[in-house]
Amino acid sequence: MSLAAPHEIKSTCCYCGVGCGVLIKTDGQQVLDVRGDPEHPANFGRLCTKGSTLHLTATPAIARQVRALTPEMRTQRAQPRGPATWDATLDFLAQKFDDTISLYGPDSVGFYISGQLLTEDYYVFNKLAKGLIGTNNIDTNSRLCMSSAVAAYKQTLGADAPPCCYEDIDAAQLIFIVGSNTAFAHPILYRRIEAARLKNPALRVIVADPRRTDTARDADLFLPILPGTDVALFNGMLHLCLWDELVDTAYIEAHTEGFTELKRLVRDFTPQFVAQTCGITEADLLLAARWFGESKASLSLYCQGLNQSASGTAKNAALINLHLATHQIGKPGAGPFSLTGQPNAMGGREVGGMANLLSAHRDLSNPQHRAEVASLWGVADVPAVPGKTAVEMFEAVRSGSIKIIWIVCTNPAQSMPDQTLIREALEKAELVIVQEAFHSTATADYADVLLPASTWAEKDGSVTNSERRITRVLPAIPAPGEARHDWQIAVQFAQRLEARQGRHTGLFAYERAEQIWNEHRESTRGRDLDITGLSYPILERDGPQQWPYVSGAKHGKLRLYEDGLFPTASGRARFVLTPYVPVAEAVDARFPFRLNTGRLRDQWHGMSRTGTVAQLFSHAPEASIVMAAGDMARRGFATGDLVHVTSRRGSQIFPVAAGDDMRAGQVFIGMHWGEESISGRAHAGQGSTGVNALTSPAIDPVSKQPELKHAAVKILKAELPARLLVFGWIEEEQALALQLRLRPYLRQFAYASCTLFGRDRVGVLFRAADEVALSPELVREIEIKFGIVGPAVLRYDDPRRGNARHLLQADGKLQAVALCGDMAAEHWLRQYLQEEIPVAALGRALLMPSTQPPQNFKARGNVICNCFNVAENAITEALAQQDTLNHGSPAERLLALQNTLQCGTNCGSCVPELKKIIAQKVGQPA
Ligand code: SF4
Repeated sequence: MSLAAPHEIKSTCCYCGVGCGVLIKTDGQQVLDVRGDPEHPANFGRLCTKGSTLHLTATPAIARQVRALTPEMRTQRAQPRGPATWDATLDFLAQKFDDTISLYGPDSVGFYISGQLLTEDYYVFNKLAKGLIGTNNIDTNSRLCMSSAVAAYKQTLGADAPPCCYEDIDAAQLIFIVGSNTAFAHPILYRRIEAARLKNPALRVIVADPRRTDTARDADLFLPILPGTDVALFNGMLHLCLWDELVDTAYIEAHTEGFTELKRLVRDFTPQFVAQTCGITEADLLLAARWFGESKASLSLYCQGLNQSASGTAKNAALINLHLATHQIGKPGAGPFSLTGQPNAMGGREVGGMANLLSAHRDLSNPQHRAEVASLWGVADVPAVPGKTAVEMFEAVRSGSIKIIWIVCTNPAQSMPDQTLIREALEKAELVIVQEAFHSTATADYADVLLPASTWAEKDGSVTNSERRITRVLPAIPAPGEARHDWQIAVQFAQRLEARQGRHTGLFAYERAEQIWNEHRESTRGRDLDITGLSYPILERDGPQQWPYVSGAKHGKLRLYEDGLFPTASGRARFVLTPYVPVAEAVDARFPFRLNTGRLRDQWHGMSRTGTVAQLFSHAPEASIVMAAGDMARRGFATGDLVHVTSRRGSQIFPVAAGDDMRAGQVFIGMHWGEESISGRAHAGQGSTGVNALTSPAIDPVSKQPELKHAAVKILKAELPARLLVFGWIEEEQALALQLRLRPYLRQFAYASCTLFGRDRVGVLFRAADEVALSPELVREIEIKFGIVGPAVLRYDDPRRGNARHLLQADGKLQAVALCGDMAAEHWLRQYLQEEIPVAALGRALLMPSTQPPQNFKARGNVICNCFNVAENAITEALAQQDTLNHGSPAERLLALQNTLQCGTNCGSCVPELKKIIAQKVGQPA
């Protein structure tokens, strides 16, 4: 292996749709470091906690433990998968596809792909399904993320094109954040909002959200609307804008159609009705409508709170209606701006990589569009029947009409709603192909064929972020083992399938990503997203560019529709009728709580990548369900109690935690917790497979996006007196492998979870609980995996009470700990181990069954600032110190904190939480 001198390669962060540019430091074989690209217009050098730890996810140790490095397959379900050559695997797949298609037709196969793919990967898979095989059964996890935004943009503005840009944040006078915890989900964009507010004190922020998130706490006006009532809110705001003559009649007349009908509809959305429906005050509603309508530039930022809903398209459209009627669109600082969840959901939309779309924003239902794509590809036709969308696809697999499913770069056994459906489908499928970088996902367990794919830092191609900006992604290191690029795997399969079928079309004669991109570019000629003026060399020379970027242009278009012309048949934007429809699954006496799911600050999706970095667990170390303190008190729950959370589809036990961001009757669980980290024995005949055991497969009738944001649940105390906690330092080379080895044990307890901890070292934490006494053999097996074995282990055992404390020391410090039964010593033993505090002086106190921590022990609390490892209690102490110095305003206190502890001075992700702690300290309503 020859190493190059360390140098930097330009790429992007592979997490959210902000699309931050990164510089990967590499020696050509390994990723040495990562920093924000100061020249990238999405982030100007900044990265959040997730982006700034990307290099830690690409270490050789991680690759050896959890990367898929060689193709694996099995020809019989009952057998384990074994390694195979690429040739044998691809030949097998070509034969299986050929046989299945011959017998049952092209719609008997399906592809479920991902918004994490690069545009080139997406393009090839789309062409493979629609152009070669002849099925539209290709959908993507973007269906869970963006499809409602797509549908509403097309309904109202005529094309799936976000009209805004990030610079609009700087120009806005009012920012309306709705259904988005931007501070957590799009942190670098949130930093931009903070900077804009500092620069322009007149800039107002309204947040509408069922939860009082960190984003909501920071707002000038917070509307704590009830889940699913967004349409009523937007219709009500339009009603008030009409009443107050804040609509722009001249703009409506010149550039839109359908307003008369909409006016009739919103007449019924009186302030009283809307306030009651949304659970807010009429005064706040009035203020929101006035601020929005009177502002010179109102910008809406929205995300999954609108999209992941059975009325997601209507929610998006009702908000766009409001923008059109008040002419808050097509001018600096204004517009409805959908924030994409995934790094390249936009790229997937551009190449038509979904069941109802075609290349370059063409429509499957349009015969002319189908003919254009067929001609571009040089095939006879493109099938007209829409393919199965995400939930429909898994239903079709379960019912047997789809026999083969090929899953690429996504983890439906974690991320899809209604896991019972998904798992039954994966078991029923005749062949499950999983193309993945990580073999550690829950979905990989179902793979009959595992295809190792390249991933971040290895890939070559392009991505498009939320503001239509295309960035060239360059490889910094080679893919490990035998992993190949996603597009290469599709191309090599397609060539074999063609050969089997005696066809030699040359449709897949690609050798480089650039050839694919150039073909995609040609497909956009004359379309709204025309990029015929761009090329790889231009992107590399001039940096990221926005579309459209037509032939001969010197730059892309910052903002769309400034001329009031829309890509509809009439050139006018269309108002859409948006009646209010309540959430699909009502709460009732049996299922009285509304479950909301969403992002945690430092985790991403199913954690296949962020879950490999121990320090990303320090902000939220373990899964929990967050409830209002009043609801907990009424049910007799205390923080840390285990509760059964049960919906109509499944059940999962979680520890409960009080959250002052929750309204009564509502609960929240992080969307990331899947079977990989939290599980347990099936309860009442229903699978315990993480948070999505509970969520609903109800879908929006237009966008087919599932309602992941709302399910009705009941919550009952889990009486599980038998407790086990084992945690300890593990060699970096072994920690993830140990986590994988522990996964089968999770199902042997009523409840169990397994996570990482640590910073410079890696620790594994295994927690379990059960109704009956734990099997000593089972406990011993788990202890042995942590090295808690042999005469060096300090032991306290009280079998009569079921209590035990077993401690392994090394160099006078704790190395691993096992606690059974009594957990009173958990918090201080964890801190002694995690902080590597010498324990020799504690002597017998280490084993004393006392509820008290040792003298002089000071609890640290959760880490708030991940960059500088600053924990809750250090912040509280510094604030107490400020009291004695008589520090003034919250802003001054924040600055003083930053000066003394450095917290919030690097990526800034913790700043909203620091503000919350300060607000609580000074007794302000947070
Ligand atoms: Fe990555 Fe954070 Fe930027 Fe999103 S905001 S792209 S997660 S660095």
